[in-house]
Amino acid sequence: MFNRIGHKLILTFGGISTIGLIIMVLFYTDQQQQSLFRQNEQIMSKVTQSVIEGLQTVMLAGYADIAQDYAANLHNVQDVVDFRIARIDGNEAFLDNKTIENVNKRKQEELFELREEQNERRIIPVDSEDLRKAIATEEIVKIRSNDASGENFLTFIAPIKNKKECHECHGSADPVRGIVKITTSLQAVENAVDSSRWQAYQMSVPFLLLIVLLTGLMVKRTIVQPISRVTTAMTSVSRGDLSMTVPVLGRDEISIMAKSFNRMSLELKTTYEGLAEERDKLTTLILSAHDGMVVTDRNGKIVLANPSAVEILRKSSRDIFDEGFIHLFDDPEIMRRAIDEESYIEIINNERVLQILASTILNQEQETIGSAALIRDVTAEKTMQAELQHLAISDGLTGLFNRRHLDETLASELNRCRRYGHEMSIIMFDVDHFKRFNDEYGHEQGDRVLQNISSTVKGLIRSLDIPCRYGGEEFLIILPETSNKFAQEIAERLRKAVEQTDMDGLRVTISIGVASYPYCMVGNPKQFIEAADKALYEAKNAGRNCMRAA
Ligand code: GH3
Ligand code: MG
Ligand code: MG
Repeated sequence: MFNRIGHKLILTFGGISTIGLIIMVLFYTDQQQQSLFRQNEQIMSKVTQSVIEGLQTVMLAGYADIAQDYAANLHNVQDVVDFRIARIDGNEAFLDNKTIENVNKRKQEELFELREEQNERRIIPVDSEDLRKAIATEEIVKIRSNDASGENFLTFIAPIKNKKECHECHGSADPVRGIVKITTSLQAVENAVDSSRWQAYQMSVPFLLLIVLLTGLMVKRTIVQPISRVTTAMTSVSRGDLSMTVPVLGRDEISIMAKSFNRMSLELKTTYEGLAEERDKLTTLILSAHDGMVVTDRNGKIVLANPSAVEILRKSSRDIFDEGFIHLFDDPEIMRRAIDEESYIEIINNERVLQILASTILNQEQETIGSAALIRDVTAEKTMQAELQHLAISDGLTGLFNRRHLDETLASELNRCRRYGHEMSIIMFDVDHFKRFNDEYGHEQGDRVLQNISSTVKGLIRSLDIPCRYGGEEFLIILPETSNKFAQEIAERLRKAVEQTDMDGLRVTISIGVASYPYCMVGNPKQFIEAADKALYEAKNAGRNCMRAA
């Protein structure tokens, strides 16, 4: 019930005001009580004084018996519990003949009649401190006491001064002639005090309620409502509504809090918008990325797979999420290897060349917070690369290998044969009277002839043979693992094939020179070609359209 700050504050303030008011009421009633007691004491002192004056007057008039009656009648006064007149020795007066005898003796006549019946009653012990004090100071001494029932009493011990007028009968030796002891009950005063206290309590209740109500209203207006506005705004902000601001109404702490909140809210909004913008950029980047991206959380569960990943992996998004990071490819070894490697690994998947870069993502504390895989489909690049590579070693007109490739391959093949003691051969051929052909049928027709011869060559040789255009209308074929004899057979087959091929109704012939390793004892590619060239030269000299071996 009191889990809200407003309730707590109202309760606290209400509690403090209530306690304050109760203290005030108690203080007030205490003061009231003391004042009543004080007043009572003053009144009773005055009553005592006037009683003494009355007694004095009666005594001076010589009517001691009337004084005695007067004293007896005072018992009847309400709240006067006891009234006694005593001599300074503490014994009650008017009960024995002591005083009468003393007075008669002093006056030397029978001024007062002696009592027939004498009594003695002690009112106060003779050595009572209060009695001594009243006699010594000639002032009234007040004594508070209570009885077994708890009733409180106030007793006055008032000295009856020995005035000049008294000296005639009583002498002047003692300054005090007797004492008056009046005991009053404090019941009536206490009743009055209780009643006034009760009234004070009754009166304070509506005040108390009013104070609590006003405190509550004030606390609500000045504290609870402003705090409530801030908390409402905070709740809205926590739910994502960053446009919420709190009115700043004053310069108190809550207003400062509201101001700080507004500032924080604005900063949050700015940061959030900046982040949202960055997030949008990132999302666009991820969604539109050409590369496939797959990301997992710290538990290895896939949390992101972009459209490119779906396309490259040729799986539905659902399958990617369900099968898991290690099973992105049919063979889980692929992903394990990719995670182990620190750079891209290349694989062939579904007839596509893919490059995979997988890594574990660590936070600043070096704890794993996920894994990510970047998958690139490099099939097109690889094809283009292969084409470029092919172009770099091909002859544009004939599609055969070019001179550069010829030089490289011949050198490596010759090396290999020398190292392993294998044999190889080369066939070099040249179109006969090609200048004349060009002159007669045009250069373009000449080109077509060269292309045609190249096709014939390709159709005749084995896949491991390497046909090259040596330059102009000269060609060279590298024949690995081929003996001189076998090379001559191939050369002869080629010569015949060219001779018999009809090209747009035209025909050409070729002259061929064959050289072989180790048959020709050549030490390097240059010597090897020279040997073949020399044989070709011999074929030319022999009348063309023929083959010679070195
Ligand atoms: P031989 O029988 O002695 O070889 O006589 P030839 O005319 O073929 O010899 P020559 O070396 O004098 O001439 C070669 C000719 O080949 C010259 C050139 O016009 C022609 N030729 C060289 N390269 C090409 C080419 O790429 N296309 C065409 N159409 N002709 C070429
Ligand atoms: Mg030539
Ligand atoms: Mg020629």
